[in-house]
Amino acid sequence: MSDNNIDGKVVVITGASSGLGEATARHLVAQGARVVLGARRIDRLQAMVEEMKANGGQAIAVETDVSDKAQVQHLVDTAITAFGRIDVLINNAGLMPHSPLERLKVDDWDRMIDVNLKGVLYGIAAVLPHMQRQKSGHIINVSSVAGHKVSPNGAVYAATKHAVRALSEGLRQEVKPWNIRTTVISPGAVATELPGSATEPDIADGMKAFYDATAIPADSFARCVAFALSQPDDMDVNEILFRPTRQAY
Ligand code: NDP
Repeated sequence: MSDNNIDGKVVVITGASSGLGEATARHLVAQGARVVLGARRIDRLQAMVEEMKANGGQAIAVETDVSDKAQVQHLVDTAITAFGRIDVLINNAGLMPHSPLERLKVDDWDRMIDVNLKGVLYGIAAVLPHMQRQKSGHIINVSSVAGHKVSPNGAVYAATKHAVRALSEGLRQEVKPWNIRTTVISPGAVATELPGSATEPDIADGMKAFYDATAIPADSFARCVAFALSQPDDMDVNEILFRPTRQAY
């Protein structure tokens, strides 16, 4: 065991099949974490797990749709069964199908609320009893610059990401008796599959152009996670907001 405060930790990551979640899983496994990966694309997760195991890491893949409470519970139960504890939950799964409200993309609104917000709540519900029992744990929620600012076409996405910040602050205050740490991370533009979740072609084109010109690699986010985890247990990094240096918004 090294003293990085990451080695040996059991870390559950939602949305681990691409982007920020995948980069974080790889970064933490390389530092000795035992990771439990959740997402819908199980083939991708299984390929990651094979690779991690071949390199001496410990990893498990669990097919998970975070909009289904029972599946999130199963993800966490699997971690407990395999490793006997859960040290970290990273509530990362999300999507960003931007559009103006007047286009009435109500199904997209529903999916953002179901995944970006309710998925985070289901994750908290699944881990909290274990962390309370352990009297330790760390819950990391992923918000966004859009959790701080609102822009046209992004009202619903921003609403979900503002909600994640509000929820994280409430959680932070409530979990003091159990020695649980909470961190909300708000990234700017990071190169992932996220712009691909847009369902309106004109909006998708604009988003792609912005990301092509602005985004930085996903390892930026993974380093923020590692920073928060690796602090001594008496230090709780509550919030990180970062952007590409070239990003104005
Ligand atoms: P990606 O699209 O690359 O990754 C999104 C991940 O979420 C995938 O692993 C996807 O897996 C998973 N996911 C989507 N829907 C579900 C679902 N219903 N159940 C389980 N998993 C799901 O984008 P990012 O890595 O960028 O996104 C990760 C988080 O970061 C999101 O919350 C996003 O809002 C946030 N964020 C990203 C920024 C960026 O610029 N990239 C900026 C600010 C915040 P699968 O499809 O296999 O289920």
